[in-house]
Parts: sequence; structure tokens; C-alpha cells
Amino acid sequence: MIIEPRTRGFICLTSHPVGCAQNVKNQIDYVTSKGKIDGAKKVLIIGSSTGFGLASRITSAFGSDASTIGVFFDKPATPNRPGSPGFYNTAAFEEEAHKAGLYAKSINGDAFSNEIKEQVVNLIKQDLGQIDLIIYSLASPVRTHPVSGKRFKSVLKPIGENFTNKTVDFHTGKVSEISINPAEGEDIENTVTVMGGEDWKMWMDALQEANVLAEGVKTVAYSYIGPEVTKPVYRNGTIGAAKDDLEAKAFTITDALKAINGNAYVSVNKALVTQASSAIPVIPLYISLLYKIMKEEGIHEGCIEQIQRLYSQRLYTDDLSLDEKGRIRVDDWEMRDDIQSKVVKLWESATTENLSEIGDLEGYSNDFYNLFGFKVPGVDYAKDVNEMVSIPSIQE
Ligand code: NAD
Repeated sequence: MIIEPRTRGFICLTSHPVGCAQNVKNQIDYVTSKGKIDGAKKVLIIGSSTGFGLASRITSAFGSDASTIGVFFDKPATPNRPGSPGFYNTAAFEEEAHKAGLYAKSINGDAFSNEIKEQVVNLIKQDLGQIDLIIYSLASPVRTHPVSGKRFKSVLKPIGENFTNKTVDFHTGKVSEISINPAEGEDIENTVTVMGGEDWKMWMDALQEANVLAEGVKTVAYSYIGPEVTKPVYRNGTIGAAKDDLEAKAFTITDALKAINGNAYVSVNKALVTQASSAIPVIPLYISLLYKIMKEEGIHEGCIEQIQRLYSQRLYTDDLSLDEKGRIRVDDWEMRDDIQSKVVKLWESATTENLSEIGDLEGYSNDFYNLFGFKVPGVDYAKDVNEMVSIPSIQE
């Protein structure tokens, strides 16, 4: 099958197995080039197939020779329809990990459910005994609650008042004004239920009750803060309320882990193009301006550079450099005053006509296609590929 990108808004309906595999190999090469990290050896990654979770799995495996179990929600290919990028990424990851002699098994299913938690617990008991790092990197628009069975939907809305600002359609480069109505009804509670910390706590409780957490275990969840321009729709909006809840849960979880000297952390990461972030209005325009500035300054990072730095310069050092709210910050370069003041200036002047010059729209667009395995250097897209890839550890 010859696979081409078919986009609809901020999603791409197709993905390319060879391009996805090449992305994974590039990330592995990056981590390998940075040398070994004295990190955890038995790691569970929840949300392991794309974005920051995939980068965490690769960093643990190839930076610390860790055994990894990955949990994600992805689709295998069906005849005439390619699988989802996370499926192809995981197939490629497992193949490379096994080649390197590393244990790697994966579970494809709803991480919010009791069944998947149980499956993971059983797999840890059977294969690893106990684990010493849990990365929580889920990004989902919906959650079926395991107790009530009710399905909750998250929304990306400001709280209190209408928000109007610039945004860009990154396919066309058209800058326009967008207006988003404030949250209403149960929007805030629903978003907190989906993207807040309750499920992270449920995972940690399930793992602790099953006695599969090692002494000194660490767990890390990912958060975002961002600049003034996105504040009303991000950090002060419904998703920000969910992040506040997630960040507060780090303390609750640390308390619960006292007996085994465990610690829960939140790492605030940089804004990056992922499937989750391209869905948020205003963010693509911000990212394209930010990319331009950070690339010019030589401090641009992708998911893999962020996570490799998180492990090697924060998590597995004596100095986590926590902020006043107890969070790890690898968004430190993004949030530098000089970087942010340049973003503000560019933001004011950004128009359809000048964006390709003052912003890195091309970088944004390339990163977006790369997520689905397209426009990856070295891949021959005219070549027929086998889309029916399987993940070695999963019998579908
Ligand atoms: P992503 O969309 O690339 O990855 C999400 C992962 O979650 C995938 O592996 C997906 O399969 C998995 N997933 C989703 N629903 C699931 C379910 N029900 N069951 C099992 N797995 C499921 O997202 P990302 O951008 O890497 O985000 C990960 C975390 O990082 C989020 O908490 C996000 O808020 C945070 N973060 C993102 C950014 C950014 O700019 N992208 C910045 C800072 C922090």
C-alpha cells in the first residue's frame, strides 16, 4: 500500500509505518548519543505510544537499559486502513528494544479502566516483580469512569469570560481571530475528571495494593503552564483546572508512598507539537513563534530532548531544582524572560502575510506531519509498504 497523508483539521487520518519507525529510531539514536543515565531499571509508562510518553519509554530503555511496560490506546491497521501512529511507534520501539536485548511488553487498551490496571499488575507480577518508575503521560478527550461507568468529556474553554485572540490554521498559514465561549454547566468538573489527577492516584493505589512498587519508587506526571497569551484558554481555563488537580495529587500520592520512601512529581514540560496540543486553539500560533525564537537561540528541543534532559539533569541527580510549588521545570528555557518578551512582540505583529517569515510555520507543519510518520527525511514515500504491522508482544 502507498500511504499518503489525509488531514482533516488538526488530525491526520492516515499514518505511515516506515516513517513512524524512522522517528522512533531517530529518538533512540539521540538518547544513545547522550550516554547512559543511572535511572530506573523497571519502568511502567502510561500513555507510552506518542509524544512525551513515547520519549520517556525510549529514554528509560535506551538511556538506562530499563525493562519497560507501555500502556496506550491505539488502533492496528485493518485491510486498506493504516493503523494509528502510536501503534506503529510501539511496534518499532519493541522491535528495537528486543534487538538490544531489552524486555519490552505493551498493553493496548483503556488505561482509565480497572481491567487494564489489573492486566498491568498481573504482567508486572509475572515478569518484573516490582517496578521503580511510573510515568503518567495520558492525554485524552474522554474518560469512562471505572466506578460510575459514566463517560466524561473534557473541553478547552476559558473560565468566567469569553476569550478572543489570534490563532492560525497551520495548513494554510491563515491568521484569524478566534472567540471561545466560557465554560458552562459541568465543563470544569468534567475536564478535571478526564485530565486531572484522579486516575493517576487510582493507578498508584492499584500498584501499591498489589505490592508491585519497589522501595524508593518514583512516579512522574506531565503538566504545562505556558505564556500570558494562552493563559485564559490554557492555564486559567478548564484544562488548567485539571492540571491544578493533577499537580495537587502529586502530594497526595507522595504521602501514600511514605512507607516505601516513594515520591510523586510533576514535571512541567515545554510546548510541543503533539496530537494533544494541535487540538488547542491559539497554541499552534504560539508554538510557531516560539519555535522560531528558540531555534534562533539554539535552545529548541523536541519531546526526546526534553525527556532526556528531565532524566539526566533533574530526576536522576541530587538536585531536582523544584519550583515554589514543588514542580520540576523543564519548560525553563521556554519561559525565560528574554524568550517570552520576544514572543509577545511577534505575537502583536503576526499576520497571515508575515507569519511564514516571523514564525516557524514550516517547522510546526513538519512536526505535525512527522507525528504521523510523514515528511520524515530518508523515507521513500513512493514505495509500497506493508501497513499490517503487528506489535511483537501483543496477540491481536
Ligand atoms: P499525546 O497525544 O502525544 O500522547 C497521549 C498518550 O496517551 C498516547 O500514548 C495515547 O495512546 C495515550 N492515551 C490516550 N487515551 C488513553 C486511554 N484512554 N488509555 C490508554 N492510553 C491512552 O500527548 P502528549 O502531548 O505527549 O501529552 C502527554 C502529557 O504531557 C499530557 O499530560 C499533556 O498535558 C502533557 N504536556 C504536553 C505538552 C505539549 O505541548 N504537547 C506540554 C507539556 C505537558
